[in-house]
Parts: sequence; C-alpha cells; structure tokens
Amino acid sequence: MAQFTKGTFLKTKCGEPVKVISYIAGGGQGDVYLVEYRKQKKALKWYKNVGNDPKSFYKNLKQNIQEGAPAPCFLWPEALVTTETDRGFGYIMDLRPAEFQELSKFILAANGAVFPSFKAAVEACLKIVAAFRILHNKGYSYQDINDGNFFINPRTAEVLICDNDNVAPDGFNTGVIGKPRYMAPEIVVGKGNVLPNKGSDRFSLAIILFILLCNDHPLEGKRCVELPCMTLKNAEKLYGSDAVFIYDDNDASNRPVKNIHRNVIERWEYMPTYMKDAFKQAFSKEAMHCPEKRLRELDWLKVLTRFRSEIIKCECGNEIFIEDINKIVCEACGKRAQVSNVFELPEYSIPATKGTWIYRCQLGMCSATTALDPIIHVVTKNGVWAWQNMSGDTIKVTTASGVDKIVRPQEVAPIKSGMVIYPFNNNVKININ
Ligand SMILES: [Zn+2]
Repeated sequence: MAQFTKGTFLKTKCGEPVKVISYIAGGGQGDVYLVEYRKQKKALKWYKNVGNDPKSFYKNLKQNIQEGAPAPCFLWPEALVTTETDRGFGYIMDLRPAEFQELSKFILAANGAVFPSFKAAVEACLKIVAAFRILHNKGYSYQDINDGNFFINPRTAEVLICDNDNVAPDGFNTGVIGKPRYMAPEIVVGKGNVLPNKGSDRFSLAIILFILLCNDHPLEGKRCVELPCMTLKNAEKLYGSDAVFIYDDNDASNRPVKNIHRNVIERWEYMPTYMKDAFKQAFSKEAMHCPEKRLRELDWLKVLTRFRSEIIKCECGNEIFIEDINKIVCEACGKRAQVSNVFELPEYSIPATKGTWIYRCQLGMCSATTALDPIIHVVTKNGVWAWQNMSGDTIKVTTASGVDKIVRPQEVAPIKSGMVIYPFNNNVKININ
C-alpha cells in the first residue's frame, strides 16, 4: 500500500525537491514510486524494512551513490531521499523503459517476453556476464542475484540490472542473503552464518545463465518432483547440502523428468558440447561445495562468445548451431547451410557471415578486462562481405598470393579464401577459408 499520495513532496539529502507522481509497486523491503526529480521522471525506492542493521545499510547505500554506477546497465542509486521531517529514507534511480521485461517473464514467455532468436538469448547472457565482470572487478559483490534483478529488452538483448542497494564491497554484507532457488549451497546451508560474496554471486550467476538458455532450473529434476512437499528442510537439501545438477555426469539421481521439464530436455540436446561442459563444471559437486572451483566471468565470456559466433540462420528461418563447421545441416529443412567463408581461430573455426564479431577472448591470451575488446567485425562493402579492423592497432594480413598488407584501425578489407590475418603483432594467426 502506498505511504505517499500524489503530490507529496520529499527532499534529497542535499535539499532538492522530489515530487511523488504515483505508486508503482511494493515488496517486503519497500515501495517504488514514480517521481519527478530535476524535471525528469525517475523511480524512488522507499524503504519499509532494511534488516537488522539499518545504519550499515544506510552507510553502504550512501557510499554506492558517491562511487557512482560501475557501468550504464546498472540502475544505480543516484540520490538519497528523505521526508521533510527526516523520517525514513529511500533513493532515486532511473526508470526502467517499458520495452524491458523482467527475466522471470522470459521463463513463462509472458507479456511478449520472448527472444526473437536463440542468438539474442546468448547475447543477453553475454551482457549479464560482462556487467558482473565489471562489478566484481571494482571490488563489489551483488549478494542477491535472482530472476527479479534483471530487465531485458527482448528485441535488442540489452540488459538492465536493478536492486543495486544490496551491492557492497566484497566481504561486507548489508543484511540480505539472497532469494531461495538462487542462493549458493553454502549460503543455504549456512542459515545466515555464511554471508554472500563474489563466490556465491558466481553460483547464482550460473543459475541465471542456465535458466536463460535452457528455461528450467539446474537443480530441479526428479528429486524435486518426488518431494511430498517443499519444506524448509527439503529445500535445504535440494539447493544446499545435497544439491545435484540435473545433468551431473556422475550422479543421475536428479535427471529432468519427461513431460515436466520439457524445456531443458529439448534444449540440452542441441546445446554445444563446450556449453554443456561449462554447465557441468559450474554445477559439479566440487563447484557446489568449493566456491574457488566455480566458473569465473572470463570462463563464461569465452564459451558464450564462441556460442554466439556459431549460431547462423538458415534460409528457412531456423537457427543452426555450428559446433563442427563440416557438419552444418539444418534440422528443420534438411538443407546444408551455405557458409561461403570461415575464420580459423586458434582453437576453433567460425563462419564469416553477416554480423560476426571476433573478440579478444576468442583468440587466446587475454585478461577478464580485455576479454570483450572487439578485434574483427564482418560488414558489407559495395555489396560484398568484408572484415573491419575493430582493434585499436594496425593488423598485418597476407593475401592468398603471398603479399603482405597493413589494415589500419577501422579500415575494411575483403574476406578472401587463402588470406591470413595476424592480430596482436603477429602473435595470433586467423586463416580465412
Ligand atoms: Zn533450414
């Protein structure tokens, strides 16, 4: 229920007026209002309950506002707000644009929350991982990753991350430990004595990626279906002490159940081996119980950029996942897909088709910071396919006839079979076939 009515004036801690326009939504922690601030429409989150240490919570929120957003995709707290009589507090943030849908809606395919392609779902995963790489690199942990924190534009796969008031320097906790089904096993078992950090964020992040790509929960298989009821004790076993990945190679006790877990059964079959391996590692018993064994952001960026590069569209409209460039027959129409050229990267090959990007992490030797630096982008020039040098440096190429040429940053060069591209001062070799 709304505490403030239309036209109520609040003020920021610096004394600037904030006018309440309407009530948007409410939850256990607080309510969200549409407000006017600095002549702009903004969202105000007003707290009802901030846990057992409100002073620390307030101090952390103030600190986050001072530090500013780690990246534009975070709907970050912008200003502290209080009443004229200084009773209670809240904060101002950007409004979520209407075309963005909550991640939980994608699971139900509700309100038009459907990706136009599988490639778009992979793209959204990449954006989420990239955002957490920045957050973690800045020394923060999120501590409450769940399906309510992400808003995705299904058309562009752009991602916005909200509820950033729990974000705190890694090792410091604001009193929030997470949402059931998304918490890491040690947090579930710890019952408030073990606090979330980067390591538990990484577990929750893997759950989000799995849900986005497979549309089911990675720990909810046969064992979950056979539970007489979800008591606290049963939940602690299923998501904590006795958690088993539904596709664990060494433990088949929690496999998906036919006719119940239809999404994951259908999707897992088409998932490339390296994606299956990444999930098997992320949810292995070792990684469940030892946070150091979990996949880091760089690991996800490597497999997701590969996955993105290997999805092409058949003439019939179906998407084809090309794990092996020699086997590219469309499942839907049975035709062999037409791939005129291929980039042979150091570890795998990808089709050189419209919109292909090659990032640094696809060429080996990189850090998490440089992983998503673009190197090559496939474009059309005068009606023919060409590649553009997106790196900041000149790149040497050798033509099929053996002539060396230099391609400057932003310059475009033709894609021709037999050409060899040498990024990073000849340290990497990309053959074009
Ligand atoms: Zn086809």
